[in-house]
Amino acid sequence: SIYISTYVILVAGVLSSQVGYAEKESCVINGAILIIISLMISKVSHASFIKDFMNKKLMTENSAYLENARKMLEEAVQKRTEELMKANEQLLYEMNARHEMKIQMYKAELEYQEKKKQLDEAVEYDRLRSEFFANISHELRTPLNMIFSIIQMFDLYINKGWEKDNKDKVNQYITTMRQNCYRLIRLINNLIDITKIDAGYFKLNLSENDIVKIVEDITSSVSQYAEANGLGISFETEIVEKFIACDPDMIERIILNLLSNAIKFTGPGGHIAVRLFEKNGNMAVSVKDSGIGIPQDKQESIFGRFIQVDKSFARSKKGSGIGLSLVKALVEMHEGRIEVISEPEKGSEFIVEFPDKAIDGACDNMVLINKFDDKTETIRVEFSDIYKCG
Ligand code: ADP
Repeated sequence: SIYISTYVILVAGVLSSQVGYAEKESCVINGAILIIISLMISKVSHASFIKDFMNKKLMTENSAYLENARKMLEEAVQKRTEELMKANEQLLYEMNARHEMKIQMYKAELEYQEKKKQLDEAVEYDRLRSEFFANISHELRTPLNMIFSIIQMFDLYINKGWEKDNKDKVNQYITTMRQNCYRLIRLINNLIDITKIDAGYFKLNLSENDIVKIVEDITSSVSQYAEANGLGISFETEIVEKFIACDPDMIERIILNLLSNAIKFTGPGGHIAVRLFEKNGNMAVSVKDSGIGIPQDKQESIFGRFIQVDKSFARSKKGSGIGLSLVKALVEMHEGRIEVISEPEKGSEFIVEFPDKAIDGACDNMVLINKFDDKTETIRVEFSDIYKCG
């Protein structure tokens, strides 16, 4: 209607103007064409406006819907996250509780094990104590009974006046008495030393000594005992001279113990070989015999206290079963080690390793006990289990 009224005004204007008919006609036609074109253009832009408008409206509606959906989704996610977090917390709590329970169970188990261990140890300690007293009583009583019987015999001899005519017999009794005194001294020495070692009071008197000479001297001084028992004894060394930090008296005691066992457990006609050599950078002393040997399952336990492989046999052979435990303790005090290689009926080899080291100034000084100045006396004591004394 705007376009038609505009056109009417235009036509009225043209008609009222003073121009010629032909101009008026062209003006009216041009105006009509212009109006038609404008109308068409406005139609097109109107349609696209409407389309745009509709699109925008749709988009606004869509985005509101989407926004709404987004919000709902966010809320759902938020809710789910909270739920998950709660579930997670619960899970963590349960895991912690379970973990705590496991720790408690583990602690209870440990406590139980510890208590069981303490109880086992107490029972074992009690057993060892009883065994210890039984062994000690036996070992002390046997030589004492022997001495006591001989004293009774002497009483009888003196009362009857037989001593003068039986000098040999009397001398034999005296030898037996002396031997049993040595046995008692050895046992008491070993007991005192073991107790001191256990209590940490036993100190080595370290000095630098030629271990080759110590071992050689001690071997040759017991050769008469070996020979008197029908055994051959040899000494061999790969090293001529070796000065190491050691307590010479204790080295003697170690070797004497090993030699005394070798003689005790090897029958007549057997052989004992003492050998010095280098092993793992240490000085090694081997005492090897061709005696009765030690069963595989006993080879570790013989270094324990009062352990005798065959008690009946050992009883007949005399011995308390503490010699090797003392030897091991003394070797370890020298920072050395001892091992045994043995096969029943074939023989045994005890190898003692002493570290090849010098005095380092920090050595403790000695607390020595029951030390005889005379080596013969030491040998008599250490060999008191062996009756044939050459
Ligand atoms: P014991 O005073 O009884 O000899 P030890 O501690 O010296 O005590 O030895 C423990 C046990 O080890 C001995 O009773 C014996 O059974 C065994 N034993 C030690 N040395 C030898 C050896 N050279 N040959 C065979 N058995 C041995």
